[in-house]
Amino acid sequence: MKTNISIAIDGPSASGKSTVAKLIASELGFLYVDTGAMYRAFTYACLIKGIDPKDKEKSCDLIGKINIAFNDENKITLDGVDVSKEIRTPEVADNVSYIASYTPVRKDLIRAQREIAKGRNVVMDGRDIGSYVLPDSQVKIYQIADAEERAIRRHKENLEKGLHSTYEEVLENVKKRDYIDSHREFSPLVEAEGSIRIDTTHMTIDEVKNAIINIIKEKGLI
Ligand code: C5P
Repeated sequence: MKTNISIAIDGPSASGKSTVAKLIASELGFLYVDTGAMYRAFTYACLIKGIDPKDKEKSCDLIGKINIAFNDENKITLDGVDVSKEIRTPEVADNVSYIASYTPVRKDLIRAQREIAKGRNVVMDGRDIGSYVLPDSQVKIYQIADAEERAIRRHKENLEKGLHSTYEEVLENVKKRDYIDSHREFSPLVEAEGSIRIDTTHMTIDEVKNAIINIIKEKGLI
């Protein structure tokens, strides 16, 4: 098998990117990289240190003072501690797009993301992977779904995890993040040139996964 293959999966919030990316990575034996988890971990760090994520200066001051990485089980860690559960709360979801709009934070995390991908076969999901982080990705997917459908899915997921927020709150959060993510100055959410758009509104997870696997096969990558 070829090495240094990257599959970039971008798209708006809760469009099912991470579920599908994880399945594809596991089927192909590639490393799955959840870049959203890194922005969430940064946000969580602000919150536990009493920093308002809307305060750009104080938030950016944490760069270099905290360590965000994935452990051997591919779980996100903050200063060596697994925070994979803590980063999924509505409070983090509500604040993460402010943190992700700060260029110095993005530059720091993007450097780490490129380092992780170097010399490896990866499936990386996020907002700017095909457009900025790994622009040479052999496959670029832009995965979308109607906002209402995305909110239904995320609300269901939250309930399953025991996280309580109403459907309306989830829908509002999804729309707010889409807006901030696509309007920031540096590496915003855009449909990368050369990407293949998949609208998953009426598709099952398996259908989306198989569609992407077929694209990878058609390119002769596997
Ligand atoms: O993917 P997830 O929804 O967990 O990402 C959380 C947030 O992190 C997004 O709403 C976005 O603000 C930010 N993000 C980003 N760039 C990425 C991945 C995530 O700005 N590559």
